[in-house]
Amino acid sequence: MLIEGGAGEWETVIGLEVHAQITAQAKLFSGAATRFGAEPNTQVSPVDAAFPGMLPVINRHCVEQAVKTGLGLDAEINLVSVFDRKNYFYPDLPAGYQISQYSQPIVGRGRVVLDMPDGSTREIGITRLHLEQDAGKSLHDQHPSHTYVDLNRAGVGLMEIVSEPDLRSAEEAGLYLRKLRSILRYLGTCDGNMEEGSLRCDANVSVRRPGHPYGTRCEIKNLNSVRYVMQAIDYEARRQIELIEEGGSVIQQTRLFDVERGITRTMRSKEEAHDYRYFPDPDLLPLVLDAGWVEELRARLPELPDAKKARFISILGLPPEDAGVLVAEKATAMYFEEAAAGRPDAKAAANWVTGDLFAALNRLGISIEQSPVSPAQLGALIDLIADGTISGRLAKDVFNEMVATGADPGAIVEQKGLRQLTDQTRIAATIDTVLAREADKVADYRAGREKLYGFFVGQIMRATQGKANPAIVNEILKKKLAP
Ligand code: ADP
Ligand code: MG
Repeated sequence: MLIEGGAGEWETVIGLEVHAQITAQAKLFSGAATRFGAEPNTQVSPVDAAFPGMLPVINRHCVEQAVKTGLGLDAEINLVSVFDRKNYFYPDLPAGYQISQYSQPIVGRGRVVLDMPDGSTREIGITRLHLEQDAGKSLHDQHPSHTYVDLNRAGVGLMEIVSEPDLRSAEEAGLYLRKLRSILRYLGTCDGNMEEGSLRCDANVSVRRPGHPYGTRCEIKNLNSVRYVMQAIDYEARRQIELIEEGGSVIQQTRLFDVERGITRTMRSKEEAHDYRYFPDPDLLPLVLDAGWVEELRARLPELPDAKKARFISILGLPPEDAGVLVAEKATAMYFEEAAAGRPDAKAAANWVTGDLFAALNRLGISIEQSPVSPAQLGALIDLIADGTISGRLAKDVFNEMVATGADPGAIVEQKGLRQLTDQTRIAATIDTVLAREADKVADYRAGREKLYGFFVGQIMRATQGKANPAIVNEILKKKLAP
């Protein structure tokens, strides 16, 4: 997507670095717990606090999570990778270095496929994924003149996932982040919870004239929502365009996004950039993976959103838009699959989930996991429509009652007497009553006022409180109206 500057068009170039907290009970190199929201400094082992003489021991589960993520990103898995020390001083980093991976990461090149709004797809390259420790947290708001340090987060395992500079707009960056988050959730390797900081993003942004080489980039640090990532990119691209069009040039620097004002501000420029003095951590051997183990993990990978979408389209016969909406969130896909399982009409289930159910959840402000209507109950409602017990119109009322009370659809139908009327004799009798009462209109109809047909149907439905089966009504009514 091109941006119109004061003097011609510009293209935005974006590469994202995403820090994804690994879903794991224990930290990357210690046995301390990782639970979010615990009392400060209650989940800290001597390793995390960097006591002298403590040695890191790699958490096998975290390695497995990183490999699974690499496989889910269709990436190369490096059977040998190396942990390096990234040296810097900060109060929330007691060791004075972070254990990370630099020149030999555990995962190499991969890709994420974006579903574009026009129905096409676009592939975004993944440069690498490496394992590293998180730092602790400095708390500046606990005391007027002191800063406190909470080391609960120190040593928690992160996957840093770096993209190629393949993204071309804030919208694409948003699609990429949502897709990446969805893949991580399907894999169960990161909960993707941006409010709790499980997923944080640094955005690298530059601008160029279309077809020209890449421009100088700025990196915007620590964005913690998809919306902020998009806002920050938009602002930053316009800032750089204005700067260049006024005769200036972009200086490579690290910037921060000011949420209140919606602008980016300088944090540090390249001259003040850190020299991390990376070197291999002498406490850790190179990480060597067994190729057979990697293949086992590959074989046990769950079905991911792209494959699920393709299956929903080809096997269940869903339109691509429905399939896309249903697979975007793992919880939605699971709900839909359970509601549709073993039922002939997958499209009906898709319509209920994306229509009435989404509307109800929206209205209640809750997630699908908290839905008052279980997938099995929705499936049962669909069955009641399919076998003619209730009409599609009354099903809406039953559904609303299910949302309000959590009751089973069968129970609601019996209790409220909503069972559809299919008895031919009774329907015929009702039609006779209505036609006898409206004898004048019947004469008009037979004389050519065919528009009256709908009126008769309406009267019959009213006489049966909406319960008469429409197909049967039509069949009998047509016969009786025939001259
Ligand atoms: P560093 O090690 O300084 O962070 P990298 O080369 O690893 O630098 O790049 C980090 C991120 O910056 C990657 O996501 C990459 O895609 C992105 N990037 C590199 N060059 C540009 C550019 N000219 N414009 C926008 N993003 C870029
Ligand atoms: Mg970087």
